[in-house]
Amino acid sequence: MIYDYIIVGGGIGGVASYILLKSIGKNVLLFEKLDYLGGCAGTFEKDGYLYNVGASTLVGLKDNMPLNILLKIAQKDKKELPVKPIDPSIIVFVKDKVIKRYKDKQKAFEEINKSFYHKNNKILWDKIYKTADINWENLYKLIPFNPNDKIDIVKKFFLNCGYFCKNGLKLVFSAKDVIKSYVPDISKDYIDFLNSQILMTSQGYWDEVSFSIASMGLTYPNLDNYYVFGGINQILEIMVKDEKNIKRKDKVIKISKDKDIFKVLSKSGEYYSKKVLLNKTIWDFCEILDNQLKDSICEKNIKKYNKIWSSATLYFNVKDDKNILNEHHYQIIHEKNPYTGSYSFFLSVSDKDDNIMNKDGFRSITISTHCKIDLWENLTAEEYKEKKEMLKDFILEKLYEKLPFFKNLEIKNIMVGTPRTFKRYTERYKGTVGGIPLLMEYTMLNYPSGITPINGLYIVGDSVFPGQGFPGVILGVFNIISLIERDFSEIFYKYIF
Ligand SMILES: Cc1cc2nc3c(=O)[nH]c(=O)nc-3n(C[C@H](O)[C@H](O)[C@H](O)COP(=O)(O)OP(=O)(O)OC[C@H]3O[C@@H](n4cnc5c(N)ncnc54)[C@H](O)[C@@H]3O)c2cc1C
Repeated sequence: MIYDYIIVGGGIGGVASYILLKSIGKNVLLFEKLDYLGGCAGTFEKDGYLYNVGASTLVGLKDNMPLNILLKIAQKDKKELPVKPIDPSIIVFVKDKVIKRYKDKQKAFEEINKSFYHKNNKILWDKIYKTADINWENLYKLIPFNPNDKIDIVKKFFLNCGYFCKNGLKLVFSAKDVIKSYVPDISKDYIDFLNSQILMTSQGYWDEVSFSIASMGLTYPNLDNYYVFGGINQILEIMVKDEKNIKRKDKVIKISKDKDIFKVLSKSGEYYSKKVLLNKTIWDFCEILDNQLKDSICEKNIKKYNKIWSSATLYFNVKDDKNILNEHHYQIIHEKNPYTGSYSFFLSVSDKDDNIMNKDGFRSITISTHCKIDLWENLTAEEYKEKKEMLKDFILEKLYEKLPFFKNLEIKNIMVGTPRTFKRYTERYKGTVGGIPLLMEYTMLNYPSGITPINGLYIVGDSVFPGQGFPGVILGVFNIISLIERDFSEIFYKYIF
């Protein structure tokens, strides 16, 4: 049998692609090497306890947000989803300041202004909110968009001249330049706060990311944010619940092509398709290709897009009989972490009523932080083990400093994840996670596209335009499928407008 498409990888990108292609009647087969879907947004099990791999905040179940459109296409009722709105979305700790990131814009602004008062703060935050809103409103007008096709870019520019002529400059100036033009005497704590929020969503600091992109990251708590019972990948599992063509624990080993047909060799056998979608990264998808298909594009990408991050993580369980942990996400900003090169970490706690994630009265915790990959390279087994211990101690010390009540809670099953761990489980290049950094130096016209030099082979996921998280990856999948399947473009626009 020859499939229309084979999809390699069941992360957000792979699963979203599966749904869209099925919606236009394509015969699709998806392979996932792990026993769960979701990849970086997965939920793994260890000794009977469940933990979030990384992602834990769900954004975008409303209106024209990408996930909401995907649910409509999958014909899934939002009421089926095991979600709970969260507000505030995160509580951020910077030195002696505590900032609750509320959904309501005015309330959110007041929190920020309380900690970092400045007479121009109101004008600045109005501008940030407005910029983010305009971007969301105009995003779909770009699709289908191929950042590598210069003619398409010129066409898109003229078709969307209203947007670009008014807002283009915000893409050219860094967040730092624009923010400092309003708050020239900005304090270090305020910068640290802004940087932590921008890095989390854009993978870059305020001097590397445009004001336009940064404004979308800075305002994500103002969109609808949700906690997902049983882990964030439940959303994906529910969308493909009755699908038979999803093969788990079946790793794809090699892809070759004979005439126009791809041969996909997996652990379970050989499969054939007309086209292949790889839910792999732009840095390493070539590794899976047979010599005859091998291309230098991955090497070029490694050189060109070299400002990449991985993540370090702590997974553990905590007994919290008195439900002291009544929020879901905390972010702690600290001095430089020598074991990761970053300045903050993000802590997610399972909901007190989450009977899937919680076990024997213990709640599930994931702490994640940006991590420089080279800090974890070339270590002996002994050094690696020692470094993991030191990383754990550093994070726990900062945690106890900011949330001292943790000291009185029973903690067990602590596990430390590093770039090596992400590499081992998700097979991503050097454990690179968080997707393509949305830096100005890459510019929108230079972002990696999911179209590869190999005819019929495409990349989906957070390393191609427009980037990471549920909103970014799903939007990227809309883009690729619209570029390669004309039928889909028609359905897509019906759902948006
Ligand atoms: C620590 C952390 C926290 C985050 N927090 C959030 C958050 O709160 N909210 C949010 O929206 N986003 C968050 N993100 C970002 C988000 O998780 C990712 O951008 C997104 O999950 C990436 O999806 P993807 O489809 O690109 O790829 P991946 O998640 O990398 O999925 C790829 C899949 O392909 C599989 N695979 C690879 N090779 C093969 C093969 N040869 N054969 C078969 N299968 C294969 C892998 O096992 C994996 O399941 C976070 C990311 C991290 C790392």
